[in-house]
Amino acid sequence: MFKKLLIANRGEICCRVIKTAKKMGIATVAVYSDADASALHVQMADEAVNIGAAPAKESYLKGETIIEVAKATGADAIHPGYGFLSENAHFAKLCADNNIAFVGPPVGAIEAMGSKSAAKNIMEKAGVPLVPGYHGEDQAEALIKQAADDMGYPVLLKAAAGGGGKGMRQVWSEAEFSDALAAAKREAVSSFGDDTMLVEKYLTQPRHVEIQVFCDSHGNGVYLFERDCSVQRRHQKVIEEAPAPNMPLHVREAMGEAALKAAKAIDYVGAGTVEFLYDVDGSFYFMEMNTRLQVEHPVTEMITGQDLVSWQLKVAAGDSLPLRQDELKVNGHSFEARVYAEDPDNDFLPATGTLRFLQPPIENEHVRVDTGVLQGDDVSVYYDPMIAKLIVWDEDRDKALQRLANALKEYRVNGLTTNLPFLYNLATSEQFKKVELDTGFIEKNSDQLFSKTEQDVADYLPLMVLSVLLKKQTLKPHATSADSNSPWNQVNAWRANESHQQVVSLEFNGTQYDVTVKQEDSAHPNYFQLLLGDTTIQIEGALEQENLIANIDGHRQRAVLVTDGNEMSLYTLNRAIHFQENTPDLGIEEADDAVGGLTAPMNGTVVKLLAEPGVNVAKDTPLLVMEAMKMEHTIKAPAAGTVTEFYFQAGELVDGGAELLNFEEAQS
Ligand code: ADP
Repeated sequence: MFKKLLIANRGEICCRVIKTAKKMGIATVAVYSDADASALHVQMADEAVNIGAAPAKESYLKGETIIEVAKATGADAIHPGYGFLSENAHFAKLCADNNIAFVGPPVGAIEAMGSKSAAKNIMEKAGVPLVPGYHGEDQAEALIKQAADDMGYPVLLKAAAGGGGKGMRQVWSEAEFSDALAAAKREAVSSFGDDTMLVEKYLTQPRHVEIQVFCDSHGNGVYLFERDCSVQRRHQKVIEEAPAPNMPLHVREAMGEAALKAAKAIDYVGAGTVEFLYDVDGSFYFMEMNTRLQVEHPVTEMITGQDLVSWQLKVAAGDSLPLRQDELKVNGHSFEARVYAEDPDNDFLPATGTLRFLQPPIENEHVRVDTGVLQGDDVSVYYDPMIAKLIVWDEDRDKALQRLANALKEYRVNGLTTNLPFLYNLATSEQFKKVELDTGFIEKNSDQLFSKTEQDVADYLPLMVLSVLLKKQTLKPHATSADSNSPWNQVNAWRANESHQQVVSLEFNGTQYDVTVKQEDSAHPNYFQLLLGDTTIQIEGALEQENLIANIDGHRQRAVLVTDGNEMSLYTLNRAIHFQENTPDLGIEEADDAVGGLTAPMNGTVVKLLAEPGVNVAKDTPLLVMEAMKMEHTIKAPAAGTVTEFYFQAGELVDGGAELLNFEEAQS
């Protein structure tokens, strides 16, 4: 077995690999960029070496530098994690050339799966079912169109070199074909510099089901069952589960065998994933093979009781697979939810900021949290904004789903926008519970998944008001008296000879609420009456650090209160509520965020300039499209006015925070 393992990655996957290495008695070396100097993965590793500046190109993607670090620290193996260099054949070769074991497949296997068309040709020869279609070298339009006409519409055009959903176009009828092909080719050239296209039957309601395979260098291969990853947004997985619900045993076995055939066809060694589209009629088709450990591997670990990273290390060290196919069993059901710093209500735009408060659910045999961040860390523009993977397990799907919903409720993050409420809506939706799954799940159920919860106001207003009142009491009084019974020691609305009355003003979901609060009894400073219309509600509570205990009309409940200036977040048993305390306007002017430059929200590429310099545009007119973290983001006019100059052209890279253009507001 290896003595020392270098992990050429960061974040949760690096931490995940280190945990297993520690258990196996293997020393670990982490690498880190300037932005990650105090990151969790650096703290967890036995040694850590700085390899450059924050942008991945200047650190985590520098293969040669990483090899140098491995040699200098005496690491005899490198685990690439996922992303970064994990599917980079050149890097795998560099490892081999330097006598360092690459914990991944042979170079040839990575290369074979690099092009969608080439991969399909290999799979076709091996007898793995493919979506009906054309993936040949002859790119004559008439030929591709004939293939589409023959199989019938709708069809899907895909760039052979594609990835991340780019260069992909649905075509619904013969009449649309020419235009769609031209558009897909344009996109393919600009993204991959290669406009080779393939066309396949477009399945309208498929599920994404993938098989975990494992092969060793002694000719053994097994499949560790399937994962259903149908819940996707823009072809990115959101929630994954294992096993695939409502999939008959004979389909699992056939798919598992097909996946092994695919792996054998390219002499695969190590952990791999073969992705299939699983159609409503029970048929399934090969889509692609990922030649690395997948983000969603924990759900497979939960249902098989195996540690896939330890399997990877054993296989890379030349051992045989730890188990035979007939020794592998599915036990129970597991879900994984990807907790992201992003805004589902704003097209899932990645969010950045500081994790001011971070309290994951407590881990136990049912709940696992794979993360690489700590409270106080920044989620920066440089890397994927995933905060954690929340994984749950139970005996069956219903029970596991309830575990997921509960754990999501208990996941408390403050300081930036997360997809936690969206994930909770997903996990508790009837449609998900009833396995109404296909890759269009999120679009189909968007009304419910994105719904704002206005009904919460009535439920939570007393709790919000109580929070404001109790928080005020933790502030220092302006005057103090040595007499502990003196009213001067109080910071409430105490008045001599009358009951105290005050108005608490707060803002929630964009609405201002002014609530009158009375306090009759100065001997009980934490006891209030809330006047809400005709009703009076008795509220009482105590706040110790973040822990709030509230009693609202006899209903005692617990919550966690996190404050940041006027911003308040309440984590109740049921959900997180974010609101703002309105303090009186003291006439202090805030800095004017004057229009002028408009900046890039994150590192990325300028895709398109949409406005003509010097031409007047209305407020909110799209001015420029940029792409970052696989998503497009549109910069809009902040007011009526004109762009005087663009500082970048389409195709150029920009750093987060860079000024993109100069905008002059129209004089009114
Ligand atoms: P990329 O490599 O660009 O991510 P894939 O070929 O892996 O593209 O497909 C990504 C997603 O697109 C799949 O998970 C599925 O949701 C959808 N998809 C791909 N091919 C088809 C098809 N023939 N019919 C319907 N949906 C498809």
